[in-house]
Amino acid sequence: MKFQQIRNATAIIEYAGKRFLVDPMLSEKASFPGFPGTVNSELSNPLVELPVTIHELSQVDAVILTHTHGDHWDEIAKAALPKDLLVFVQNEQDQKEVSSAGFTNTRVLDSETEFEGIRLVKTPGQHGSDSIMEKLGDMLGTVCGVIFIHPSEKTLYLAGDTVWNHHVENSLETYTPEVVILNSGDAQVVGLGSIIMGKRDVLKVHEAAPNATLIATHMEAVNHAVLSRKELREFSIENGFDTNIAVPEDGETVVI
Ligand SMILES: [Zn+2]
Repeated sequence: MKFQQIRNATAIIEYAGKRFLVDPMLSEKASFPGFPGTVNSELSNPLVELPVTIHELSQVDAVILTHTHGDHWDEIAKAALPKDLLVFVQNEQDQKEVSSAGFTNTRVLDSETEFEGIRLVKTPGQHGSDSIMEKLGDMLGTVCGVIFIHPSEKTLYLAGDTVWNHHVENSLETYTPEVVILNSGDAQVVGLGSIIMGKRDVLKVHEAAPNATLIATHMEAVNHAVLSRKELREFSIENGFDTNIAVPEDGETVVI
Protein backbone atom coordinates (compact mmCIF):
# COMPACT_ATOMS: atom_id res chain seq x y z
CA MET A 1 0.00 0.00 0.00
CA LYS A 2 0.99 3.59 -0.43
CA PHE A 3 0.05 6.62 1.61
CA GLN A 4 0.63 9.99 -0.01
CA GLN A 5 0.36 12.91 2.38
CA ILE A 6 -1.26 15.77 0.51
CA ARG A 7 -2.09 18.50 3.04
CA ASN A 8 -3.84 18.50 6.43
CA ALA A 9 -5.90 15.27 6.57
CA THR A 10 -6.09 15.13 2.78
CA ALA A 11 -4.26 12.07 1.50
CA ILE A 12 -4.21 9.51 -1.28
CA ILE A 13 -4.30 5.93 -0.09
CA GLU A 14 -3.47 3.20 -2.63
CA TYR A 15 -4.76 -0.07 -1.26
CA ALA A 16 -5.30 -3.38 -3.05
CA GLY A 17 -4.95 -1.64 -6.40
CA LYS A 18 -7.52 1.06 -5.66
CA ARG A 19 -6.94 4.76 -5.03
CA PHE A 20 -8.84 6.60 -2.31
CA LEU A 21 -8.87 10.34 -1.73
CA VAL A 22 -9.31 11.03 1.98
CA ASP A 23 -10.87 14.20 3.43
CA PRO A 24 -10.22 16.63 0.56
CA MET A 25 -9.55 20.23 1.58
CA LEU A 26 -8.56 21.75 -1.75
CA SER A 27 -8.72 25.53 -1.18
CA GLU A 28 -5.81 27.79 -2.03
CA LYS A 29 -3.57 28.90 0.80
CA ALA A 30 -5.13 31.52 3.15
CA SER A 31 -8.53 31.49 1.44
CA PHE A 32 -10.77 31.05 4.50
CA PRO A 33 -10.56 32.36 8.09
CA GLY A 34 -9.11 30.54 11.06
CA PHE A 35 -11.58 28.55 13.14
CA PRO A 36 -13.14 30.89 15.72
CA GLY A 37 -12.35 30.04 19.35
CA THR A 38 -9.32 27.99 18.41
CA VAL A 39 -5.64 28.72 18.91
CA ASN A 40 -4.04 31.06 16.31
CA SER A 41 -7.48 31.88 14.87
CA GLU A 42 -6.01 35.09 13.39
CA LEU A 43 -4.24 32.93 10.80
CA SER A 44 -6.11 32.17 7.57
CA ASN A 45 -6.51 28.60 6.35
CA PRO A 46 -5.03 26.62 4.80
CA LEU A 47 -1.55 27.61 6.02
CA VAL A 48 0.16 26.07 2.98
CA GLU A 49 -0.57 25.37 -0.68
CA LEU A 50 -1.55 22.00 -2.14
CA PRO A 51 1.57 20.13 -3.31
CA VAL A 52 -0.21 18.58 -6.34
CA THR A 53 -2.96 19.61 -8.72
CA ILE A 54 -6.65 19.09 -8.04
CA HIS A 55 -6.80 17.21 -11.35
CA GLU A 56 -4.31 14.66 -10.00
CA LEU A 57 -6.37 14.30 -6.81
CA SER A 58 -9.49 13.64 -8.87
CA GLN A 59 -7.94 10.52 -10.44
CA VAL A 60 -9.23 8.15 -7.76
CA ASP A 61 -11.68 5.29 -7.39
CA ALA A 62 -13.46 6.81 -4.38
CA VAL A 63 -13.41 9.56 -1.80
CA ILE A 64 -13.62 8.84 1.93
CA LEU A 65 -15.00 11.57 4.18
CA THR A 66 -14.43 10.90 7.87
CA HIS A 67 -16.66 13.93 8.61
CA THR A 68 -17.56 17.20 6.93
CA HIS A 69 -15.73 19.90 8.89
CA GLY A 70 -14.31 22.61 6.65
CA ASP A 71 -10.74 21.36 6.94
CA HIS A 72 -11.81 17.95 5.57
CA TRP A 73 -14.44 18.84 2.96
CA ASP A 74 -14.29 22.38 1.72
CA GLU A 75 -16.01 24.52 -0.88
CA ILE A 76 -13.35 23.88 -3.53
CA ALA A 77 -13.58 20.11 -3.04
CA LYS A 78 -17.36 20.37 -3.48
CA ALA A 79 -16.95 22.49 -6.62
CA ALA A 80 -13.99 20.78 -8.27
CA LEU A 81 -14.39 17.04 -7.76
CA PRO A 82 -16.39 15.12 -10.40
CA LYS A 83 -20.00 14.88 -9.24
CA ASP A 84 -20.24 11.19 -10.14
CA LEU A 85 -17.22 10.22 -8.05
CA LEU A 86 -18.11 7.70 -5.36
CA VAL A 87 -18.02 9.35 -1.92
CA PHE A 88 -18.09 7.23 1.24
CA VAL A 89 -19.59 9.03 4.24
CA GLN A 90 -20.11 8.16 7.89
CA ASN A 91 -23.88 8.62 8.20
CA GLU A 92 -27.06 9.78 6.52
CA GLN A 93 -26.63 13.35 7.73
CA ASP A 94 -23.30 13.66 5.92
CA GLN A 95 -24.78 11.84 2.94
CA LYS A 96 -27.47 14.53 2.69
CA GLU A 97 -24.85 17.26 2.91
CA VAL A 98 -22.71 15.70 0.19
CA SER A 99 -25.69 14.99 -2.03
CA SER A 100 -26.92 18.56 -1.67
CA ALA A 101 -23.54 19.69 -3.05
CA GLY A 102 -24.47 17.78 -6.23
CA PHE A 103 -22.71 14.46 -5.67
CA THR A 104 -24.77 11.63 -7.11
CA ASN A 105 -22.85 8.55 -5.96
CA THR A 106 -22.61 8.35 -2.17
CA ARG A 107 -22.44 5.37 0.17
CA VAL A 108 -22.80 5.30 3.94
CA LEU A 109 -20.05 3.28 5.61
CA ASP A 110 -20.99 0.63 8.14
CA SER A 111 -19.32 -2.33 9.76
CA GLU A 112 -19.38 -4.45 6.60
CA THR A 113 -18.96 -2.21 3.60
CA GLU A 114 -17.50 -4.02 0.59
CA PHE A 115 -15.78 -2.14 -2.23
CA GLU A 116 -13.94 -3.92 -5.06
CA GLY A 117 -12.92 -6.77 -2.75
CA ILE A 118 -11.81 -4.41 0.01
CA ARG A 119 -13.65 -4.54 3.32
CA LEU A 120 -14.16 -1.08 4.79
CA VAL A 121 -15.21 -1.01 8.43
CA LYS A 122 -16.45 2.23 9.95
CA THR A 123 -14.94 2.83 13.38
CA PRO A 124 -16.02 5.28 16.06
CA GLY A 125 -13.94 8.18 17.29
CA GLN A 126 -14.45 11.26 19.43
CA HIS A 127 -13.36 14.76 18.37
CA GLY A 128 -12.10 15.74 21.86
CA SER A 129 -12.17 14.59 25.49
CA ASP A 130 -15.46 13.87 27.28
CA SER A 131 -15.33 17.28 28.97
CA ILE A 132 -14.71 19.10 25.66
CA MET A 133 -17.58 17.17 24.06
CA GLU A 134 -19.87 18.25 26.93
CA LYS A 135 -19.17 21.89 26.09
CA LEU A 136 -18.71 21.80 22.32
CA GLY A 137 -20.29 18.51 21.26
CA ASP A 138 -22.75 20.16 18.90
CA MET A 139 -19.97 21.94 17.05
CA LEU A 140 -17.48 19.07 17.03
CA GLY A 141 -20.14 16.61 15.98
CA THR A 142 -19.78 12.98 14.98
CA VAL A 143 -16.62 11.62 13.38
CA CYS A 144 -15.49 8.24 12.13
CA GLY A 145 -12.44 6.26 11.21
CA VAL A 146 -12.10 3.42 8.70
CA ILE A 147 -10.38 0.04 8.79
CA PHE A 148 -9.26 -1.33 5.40
CA ILE A 149 -9.01 -5.12 5.10
CA HIS A 150 -7.91 -7.16 2.07
CA PRO A 151 -6.28 -10.60 1.82
CA SER A 152 -3.25 -9.30 -0.09
CA GLU A 153 -2.68 -6.20 2.06
CA LYS A 154 -1.81 -5.37 5.62
CA THR A 155 -4.76 -4.15 7.66
CA LEU A 156 -4.90 -0.36 7.70
CA TYR A 157 -6.63 1.84 10.28
CA LEU A 158 -7.42 5.43 9.36
CA ALA A 159 -8.34 6.81 12.78
CA GLY A 160 -9.79 10.18 11.71
CA ASP A 161 -10.29 13.27 13.88
CA THR A 162 -10.21 11.63 17.29
CA VAL A 163 -8.19 11.87 20.46
CA TRP A 164 -6.78 8.73 22.13
CA ASN A 165 -9.68 7.01 23.90
CA HIS A 166 -11.42 3.67 24.36
CA HIS A 167 -12.78 3.83 20.80
CA VAL A 168 -9.28 3.87 19.36
CA GLU A 169 -8.09 1.29 21.88
CA ASN A 170 -10.99 -1.04 20.95
CA SER A 171 -10.34 -0.66 17.22
CA LEU A 172 -6.66 -1.54 17.74
CA GLU A 173 -7.61 -4.58 19.82
CA THR A 174 -10.36 -5.80 17.52
CA TYR A 175 -8.61 -5.42 14.15
CA THR A 176 -4.88 -5.46 15.07
CA PRO A 177 -4.00 -3.13 12.19
CA GLU A 178 -0.39 -3.20 11.00
CA VAL A 179 -0.59 0.36 9.72
CA VAL A 180 -2.33 3.21 11.57
CA ILE A 181 -2.89 6.72 10.22
CA LEU A 182 -3.22 9.28 13.01
CA ASN A 183 -4.44 12.87 12.82
CA SER A 184 -1.64 14.18 14.99
CA GLY A 185 -1.61 17.98 14.74
CA ASP A 186 -2.83 18.53 18.33
CA ALA A 187 -5.51 21.02 17.21
CA GLN A 188 -6.40 23.21 20.19
CA VAL A 189 -9.57 24.95 21.32
CA VAL A 190 -8.70 27.96 23.48
CA GLY A 191 -9.05 27.15 27.17
CA LEU A 192 -10.25 23.59 26.59
CA GLY A 193 -7.45 21.65 24.98
CA SER A 194 -6.92 19.26 22.15
CA ILE A 195 -9.57 18.01 19.73
CA ILE A 196 -7.32 15.61 17.79
CA MET A 197 -4.25 13.61 18.78
CA GLY A 198 -1.14 15.25 20.17
CA LYS A 199 2.23 13.60 20.71
CA ARG A 200 1.18 11.85 23.94
CA ASP A 201 -1.87 10.36 22.23
CA VAL A 202 0.41 9.09 19.46
CA LEU A 203 2.63 7.45 22.11
CA LYS A 204 -0.45 5.77 23.64
CA VAL A 205 -1.28 4.32 20.21
CA HIS A 206 2.28 3.06 19.87
CA GLU A 207 2.14 1.48 23.34
CA ALA A 208 -1.17 -0.23 22.49
CA ALA A 209 0.05 -1.40 19.06
CA PRO A 210 3.85 -1.59 19.39
CA ASN A 211 4.35 -3.48 16.12
CA ALA A 212 2.21 -1.19 14.00
CA THR A 213 3.63 1.38 11.62
CA LEU A 214 2.13 4.75 12.48
CA ILE A 215 1.70 7.54 9.92
CA ALA A 216 1.16 11.05 11.22
CA THR A 217 -1.07 13.40 9.22
CA HIS A 218 -3.23 16.55 9.78
CA MET A 219 -0.11 18.58 10.65
CA GLU A 220 1.11 22.13 9.92
CA ALA A 221 -1.76 23.06 7.60
CA VAL A 222 -4.59 24.65 9.63
CA ASN A 223 -4.47 27.43 12.22
CA HIS A 224 -5.20 25.45 15.39
CA ALA A 225 -2.92 22.45 14.77
CA VAL A 226 0.03 23.33 17.00
CA LEU A 227 2.21 20.21 16.96
CA SER A 228 4.99 20.46 14.37
CA ARG A 229 6.44 17.55 12.48
CA LYS A 230 9.85 18.36 13.93
CA GLU A 231 8.53 18.18 17.49
CA LEU A 232 6.74 14.88 16.86
CA ARG A 233 9.84 13.37 15.25
CA GLU A 234 11.99 14.46 18.20
CA PHE A 235 9.41 13.11 20.67
CA SER A 236 9.38 9.76 18.86
CA ILE A 237 13.18 9.55 19.18
CA GLU A 238 13.08 10.48 22.88
CA ASN A 239 10.46 7.81 23.48
CA GLY A 240 12.04 5.10 21.35
CA PHE A 241 9.43 4.74 18.62
CA ASP A 242 11.00 6.71 15.78
CA THR A 243 11.40 3.54 13.71
CA ASN A 244 7.67 2.86 14.11
CA ILE A 245 6.41 6.18 12.82
CA ALA A 246 6.48 8.07 9.53
CA VAL A 247 5.84 11.81 9.62
CA PRO A 248 5.60 12.64 5.91
CA GLU A 249 5.86 16.11 4.47
CA ASP A 250 3.10 17.36 2.19
CA GLY A 251 3.46 15.60 -1.14
CA GLU A 252 5.60 12.79 0.28
CA THR A 253 4.60 9.14 -0.23
CA VAL A 254 5.07 6.42 2.37
CA VAL A 255 5.32 2.95 0.83
CA ILE A 256 4.44 0.13 3.22
ZN1 LIG B 1 -9.64 18.15 11.24
